[in-house]
Amino acid sequence: MTKYSAFKVFLEGLGGQQGWSPAWRSPQPKRRYDVIIIGGGGHGLATAYYLAKVHGVRNVAVLERGWLGGGNTGRNTTVIRSNYYYPASARLYDFSLKLYEGLSRELNYNVMFSQRGMVMVAHSRHDLEGAQRWVGAMQLNGVDAEMISADEVKRRLPVLDASPGARYPIWGGFMQKRAGTARHDAVAWGYARAADALGVDIIQNCEVRGFLKNQTGRVTGVETNLGVIETDKVGMAVAGHSSVMAQLAGFELPITSYALQAFVSEPLKPVIDTVMLSLATGLYISQSDKGGLVFGGALDHYASYAQRGNSPTIRQVAGALADQMPSLGRVRLARHWAGIVDVVQDSSPILGETPTPGVYINCGWGTGGFKAIPAGGYLLAHHLATGQAHDIAAPFGLNRFFTGALIDEAAASGIAH
Ligand SMILES: Cc1cc2nc3c(=O)[nH]c(=O)nc-3n(C[C@H](O)[C@H](O)[C@H](O)COP(=O)(O)OP(=O)(O)OC[C@H]3O[C@@H](n4cnc5c(N)ncnc54)[C@H](O)[C@@H]3O)c2cc1C
Repeated sequence: MTKYSAFKVFLEGLGGQQGWSPAWRSPQPKRRYDVIIIGGGGHGLATAYYLAKVHGVRNVAVLERGWLGGGNTGRNTTVIRSNYYYPASARLYDFSLKLYEGLSRELNYNVMFSQRGMVMVAHSRHDLEGAQRWVGAMQLNGVDAEMISADEVKRRLPVLDASPGARYPIWGGFMQKRAGTARHDAVAWGYARAADALGVDIIQNCEVRGFLKNQTGRVTGVETNLGVIETDKVGMAVAGHSSVMAQLAGFELPITSYALQAFVSEPLKPVIDTVMLSLATGLYISQSDKGGLVFGGALDHYASYAQRGNSPTIRQVAGALADQMPSLGRVRLARHWAGIVDVVQDSSPILGETPTPGVYINCGWGTGGFKAIPAGGYLLAHHLATGQAHDIAAPFGLNRFFTGALIDEAAASGIAH
């Protein structure tokens, strides 16, 4: 694997950029692997990386039906935070945030993690009381969070309408300073490159269409458009298509798939240097390094696999932006897209074993799984390699829908990405 460094970039600049090698190979599938991961998004690639790196399991294939990061990993708005309510979620998401803090160095790949902080803005007494409870829960769980005054919100976000007649008056808010954004493609590519260097086969344009099982019902392989590939361990990380894949494997998941849309404006000079979320409208926004305003709002209201935008959501989200930031009302929209997200009724992920022996799952991240990529990959790899759920993952098993031990994070994850 080429070691990336400032010196190497400088040298290549002198040499006409001729010395770079492909970041990963494009191998043909082998007849058999110790582990097959379905889905070449962030979670699938991270799982393969940690299997090889932490557990020494290197005879691994990642099967991706399209291109790496072409699912939600390359379609999201890149917000990373760990501001959840319950102790189990705080452990999970803060573990992920900590892995992000060292990720560029770990992968020798700049994932452009920028801890610019996230401000949740309260527009009423009700919002403010909710924010105080939220901060209290985070602090009890040992996660950084602080209330900020209305004046501090206005200082950090001068672009917000703070006039006396503002439609959404500013009452204050709270902040997680360690939150931020990272470059989504880079996260997928960084894990892919590092996993490939450890011997993992990454196979694109390879769609899984069925599962092979023995008489006891245990998985023995997968059927793909490139033929049968044998294995006795499969990890599934296919986000919005998890229930489809589960049906192929012979079980059901409590997941509903919805489109979630996002937007980016034409590039502007710097106007917002943090991530903002409005507790009243659900509008959230940050500014990319190229200058585009990256923003979004709530899910579409109906279940769907249609991976595209629609005009009611444009009106709703762009309307919230123009109401709250009137000075940006005439900025042009450059692009608009959607991804299919996997929503679970308690708004928490599903990690671990499934009713089909040998098949393990990582799904249910809904609108907020980009921030969880390092943890999701690490924990699924642990389960695949050791046969035991990691302590952090244990509360998120599928069995919670039988025991009733749900982890209801709707208040923290509904529209907060
Ligand atoms: C618009 C939008 C904004 C978002 N914003 C945020 C945010 O700001 N912060 C945050 O934390 N999260 C956010 N999310 C959620 C986040 O993007 C996802 O939770 C996360 O990317 C899921 O990663 P994944 O690897 O599980 O899935 P994906 O990246 O979707 O990867 C799954 C892969 O599986 C492949 N696949 C599917 N079926 C098959 C098959 N049969 N065979 C082989 N491969 C298959 C797909 O092609 C896909 O590449 C957002 C999502 C969207 C859509």
